[in-house]
Amino acid sequence: MEAIQALIKISQAAAIAPALTQGGGGNTSYKNGNEMLIKASGFRLDEVSATAGFVKVNYPPVVDCLRKDTNQLPLPDADLKQLVNDQIIGDKTFLPSMETGFHAVLNTCVIHTHPIVANLLLCSAEGEHQLKNIFNDEAIAILPFLNPGYYLSKAIADLGQAPAIIFLKNHGLIVHGETVEASIATQNAVIEKLNTALDFKGDIQFELKEKKAQVFELKATWLDLYFSQPSLLSKTYFPDQAVVIGQQFNYSNSGVLKTKLNFNTSNGTCLINAPYKTALAIAENLSALAQIMLYNQAQDNTQTTVPDQDVAYILGMDMEKYRQAFLGIK
Ligand SMILES: [Zn+2]
Repeated sequence: MEAIQALIKISQAAAIAPALTQGGGGNTSYKNGNEMLIKASGFRLDEVSATAGFVKVNYPPVVDCLRKDTNQLPLPDADLKQLVNDQIIGDKTFLPSMETGFHAVLNTCVIHTHPIVANLLLCSAEGEHQLKNIFNDEAIAILPFLNPGYYLSKAIADLGQAPAIIFLKNHGLIVHGETVEASIATQNAVIEKLNTALDFKGDIQFELKEKKAQVFELKATWLDLYFSQPSLLSKTYFPDQAVVIGQQFNYSNSGVLKTKLNFNTSNGTCLINAPYKTALAIAENLSALAQIMLYNQAQDNTQTTVPDQDVAYILGMDMEKYRQAFLGIK
């Protein structure tokens, strides 16, 4: 199989349901010789095609950098970013995913997603123990929350021969293997196992109704949660929440559009003031978060969050700024 066909195949497999990737947040890669094809930042997985949505990177220098002692890099995050961008082969219009580092150190074929069913467990204190029980017959790694970029990539490089299944707390899942078939089979098996264990049938469900240009009304059964718990969005539960929604939400009883996400408390309507692609990403992330909250509140679990200093770091990252801006204008 040609490398680009392989990348398209795994990207489609990951993009199959927004329950796995909300707002195009996941990413995929495929290595062929010294080249790695990786999803470009700002594209949804289902936009990866033979002509768009991916970047080619000469990846061995990235691996060498991550195998080094951290102390040898004065500014690890900036240095890795620069190194990755220097390794782009050919067209430099688009940047590779911000998570390129960990893709480089893993097996031939890597699929990274943010499955809701995994995040039900990864966003609570009790979830890690439950995950270990569910996967007690398999080799898995569960990493604490680490900033996407150098620190997450370094932790994955430090796993050495990393198990095929890696869970990231308050973030998502990575699976990898020698072949397209093996990686897709592993991903499907993980999701199926979790769906069965948690009796999870959830998916992303909502309606986006265009009211006027770039104003969409969001309708969903789970929307009540955000009206009854307005403090919910002031905490961050996974990186994409910070990137896609962040603090750009507002509660008021006037219906005035103050920011991207507007909750009108006088009539219970929610209006998203953004281009369609951004509105879709916001709605998908809100839906994922609602399911994570409802599950953990019902279980009486202790929710874990992304620390504020990490949120600031994520929002300050050049790559994320780029991705945010790109999602906004496309
Ligand atoms: Zn991610």
